[in-house]
Amino acid sequence: MVQQLLKFVSIDQAMPDKRAAEDRRHDFDEIYARFSPEAATSQASRCSQCGIPYCQVHCPLNNNIPDWLMLTAEGRLEEAYELSSATNTFPEICGRICPQDRLCEGNCVIEKGFNSVTIGSVEKYITDTAHERGWVKPPAPKRELGLSVGIIGAGPGGLAAADMLRRKGFSVHVYDRYDRVGGLMVYGIPNFKLDKAIVGRRHDLLEAGGIKFHLNFEIGRDASLAELRERHDAILIATGVYQQRKIQAPGITLGNIVQALDFLTASNRRGFGDNVAEDSPDAAGKHVVVIGGGDTAMDCVRTAIRQGAASVKCLYRRDRKNMPGSQREVQHAEEEGVEFVWMAAPSGFDGDGDVRSVLAHRVHLGVADATGRQTPQMVEGSQFTLQADLVILALGFDPENVPTLFGAPDLVVSRWGTIRVDHRSFMTSLDGVFAAGDIVRGASLVVWAIRDGRDAAESIARYLAAKVPALGAVA
Ligand code: FAD
Ligand code: SF4
Ligand code: SF4
Repeated sequence: MVQQLLKFVSIDQAMPDKRAAEDRRHDFDEIYARFSPEAATSQASRCSQCGIPYCQVHCPLNNNIPDWLMLTAEGRLEEAYELSSATNTFPEICGRICPQDRLCEGNCVIEKGFNSVTIGSVEKYITDTAHERGWVKPPAPKRELGLSVGIIGAGPGGLAAADMLRRKGFSVHVYDRYDRVGGLMVYGIPNFKLDKAIVGRRHDLLEAGGIKFHLNFEIGRDASLAELRERHDAILIATGVYQQRKIQAPGITLGNIVQALDFLTASNRRGFGDNVAEDSPDAAGKHVVVIGGGDTAMDCVRTAIRQGAASVKCLYRRDRKNMPGSQREVQHAEEEGVEFVWMAAPSGFDGDGDVRSVLAHRVHLGVADATGRQTPQMVEGSQFTLQADLVILALGFDPENVPTLFGAPDLVVSRWGTIRVDHRSFMTSLDGVFAAGDIVRGASLVVWAIRDGRDAAESIARYLAAKVPALGAVA
């Protein structure tokens, strides 16, 4: 029914209503409302149903975007949900937190001069509606296969694999050292981007489908990898990357210079009503400087605003167009009162036990490196000082030393510490042990962790079917 579509000429792009910056500065609620049914229909109808849909090509899950937009435009929401959930385990989560401006929407080829289709918001609308109407069901296997898979890590990679393996009939056990399910979706990403209830709702469904969660259970402390291999027929490692990068600079050991994830985890725990240690980092009343320019830095500055900081500055060594964070997030941060200090880097910290100021200098961008990004170089004589009584380091993450932690010296890792896998099978150097998500890719995105988790699950099913021919084709 193509006449329902191609409306990009007559209908302007419209995002769902965004709360006013002054309003959202004071709480951790999500900032976008949901589309009304009429708005979802009309926004979906802007799609021009491209012969080669670049939106789909650039979605890590290769979601069948044009078709579910068409079904939404035609009011056939249940079918839209079936189609969207066929390739994405958590569409309502991706619709909220994918950097769409770099992925699907950034590659929407609607005629030049018109803005892209609001793909993420429609995806979120479809699945939020599906949850409300009871269309989203727990994973339900047709038969039990009598084989079990142990998954280490309850982040998006581990959960996507758990969901697929359970649907195929495996008994699935997920181990996580945290006390809640969701990995960085729960303790990293703030509530104003992804409401924790959305993740909790998925946990409930997975549990209702028979997946067993073993929380507060750390591999390396409560069991070794070898012990887990004894318990299960295959293992998936999806433990993410948690070693926070540091800088060496005079004054770095002063008080109130903290790591981003410690700051964000404490904030997320307060949101849950957990008891948080009194000396946990808190920005209330403080002059805050966040160092870094990625999504984690954006989450820190926006969290600091909501905690009632006196001022919030983001110090980043490149310019706006060279920063790794999503432009949409930078815009939100600026609207909420964050000041960006571009092309600047810290050279030290001053204080009296606790930090009182950041000593910084200007940088200029030199020649491009192997990745095409220009390398920052210091501008002589450009030193300046920023008042700061809380400094948050958001410099990126590296993997922990997994072979040592897991007591598994034969587990081969790359020179960066990420786990080496065969890129077709996701199998590590250990037979029957697979790996997926950030621990393989390095710090990445939720949508890529979901993709890897799904692909690894398919591969685990093929591996077990080959080992136990009586299972027949389960992959
Ligand atoms: P994780 O989500 O890290 O989950 C790994 C799990 O393994 C954790 O629950 C951990 O407790 C558990 N674990 C680790 N070691 C052990 C062990 N020894 N024993 C038992 N359990 C263990 N991505 C986006 O797409 N959009 C965003 O807006 C976005 N914002 C982000 C903001 C922040 C602050 C951060 C830090 C990341 C953000 N990301 C974002 C990236 C995204 O969260 C990750 O790429 C994604 O969560 C990786 O999924 P994963 O399953 O590989 O690992
Ligand atoms: Fe876009 Fe992410 Fe949804 Fe893919 S999963 S369509 S990239 S929002
Ligand atoms: Fe529709 Fe844009 Fe995808 Fe083309 S690229 S199919 S217009 S959403």
